Amino acid sequence: MTLVPEYRAADRPAATVSGHEGGPEGGLSANNLIGMDRDQLAAAAVMAGEQPRQARLRGRQLFHWLYHRGATSFDEMTTISKNLRARLKEKFTLERPGTSACQQSRDGTRKWLLRFADGQEAEAVHIPEEDRGALCISSQVGCTLTCSFCHTGTQRLVRNLTAAEIVAQIMVARDTIGEWPTPKDHRMISNIVLMGMGEPLLNYDNVRRALTVIMDAEGIAISKRRITLSTSGVVPKIEQCGRELGVNLAISLHAVHDELRDILVPINKRYPIGELLQACRDYPASNNARRITFEYVMLRDVNDSAADARELVRLLRGIPAKVNLIPFNPWPGAPYECSTAKAINRFAAIVNDAGYSSPVRVPRGRDIMAACGQLKSASVKARRAASA
Ligand code: SAH
Ligand code: SF4
Repeated sequence: MTLVPEYRAADRPAATVSGHEGGPEGGLSANNLIGMDRDQLAAAAVMAGEQPRQARLRGRQLFHWLYHRGATSFDEMTTISKNLRARLKEKFTLERPGTSACQQSRDGTRKWLLRFADGQEAEAVHIPEEDRGALCISSQVGCTLTCSFCHTGTQRLVRNLTAAEIVAQIMVARDTIGEWPTPKDHRMISNIVLMGMGEPLLNYDNVRRALTVIMDAEGIAISKRRITLSTSGVVPKIEQCGRELGVNLAISLHAVHDELRDILVPINKRYPIGELLQACRDYPASNNARRITFEYVMLRDVNDSAADARELVRLLRGIPAKVNLIPFNPWPGAPYECSTAKAINRFAAIVNDAGYSSPVRVPRGRDIMAACGQLKSASVKARRAASA
């Protein structure tokens, strides 16, 4: 397995709070408060001259202003003295990452291309429903895992996103949609799915830190029941994810035989189907009410036969599961085609008849290349076009 090189801020300016990654090579700027937890915010207040005995209180207040109110300036923070606000302003910022592009699809799907301090970019996509909506966020720039049907896997530049960069995706989306302060209910960003660029379990520490901030009931307050983490099958991290975060799990299965899955999802060579399904059986946060989603991309004449569907049913026995059939989204140069409607329906019927819910995902945002597997930095394309 290729591991993503750990990102580290080398020359951290003196005012950096420990554990908050940032700096010249990536992240948000080192003195940006976004992404910090209460303790880090308390430490920031002390750095700005607050008495240590007041640190906890200030940490809580800053947390509230950042993540409940969505404050974009220190001036708004009226529960904090003017004096301290001025000193915080000298040392710290609340600046969001730059937005290289923000596009809206005809179907309402919205895509942000965010640009971080090192110029690297990652995408977040909002998929609205009538009275709710999911925000699909990225965990890495690119992905090292090179699944053969996935556009993101063809991107060469790869690095982990910092916890701050992961949290910032939600903050930018909420800024655009106007969802501050955190609404009690009726939210258009009601759910989070980690299904954007990257493999979240290869960047687990940053994902854990980010989700801990995101799930906190006094801040952004999106509960673990409304968060789904999708993995291609980094087996050793699955149990830890369930135990520490308790979020919903989605598994990118895509094939029912190791021979084929080795090609479609190469991490299968390291963690084959049998081990992956055992980790699912053992997943601490699943039960009949919170089923594990098995994602299955429909590739014409590759994995879409009736025999494949029957084998899938056999494999899932004993796992609280539902199946999500994803019509393949083509991208330029892709070596696959999407299955026919007939094949998809036949597959869905077999899985359904065996008692598993198996909705076919309706592609959203295809016109802005925001559908599954199409996320790729527009700037990479733009650069290529410019040098052609
Ligand atoms: N790396 C993680 C999460 C991001 S991918 C994972 O693989 O699970 C999110 C989902 O989109 C995965 O199920 C992935 O297999 C699927 N996907 C990737 N490329 C696709 C494509 N071209 N068409 C349809 N789905 C695709
Ligand atoms: Fe990476 Fe997921 Fe794409 Fe595979 S499907 S290359 S793991 S983003």
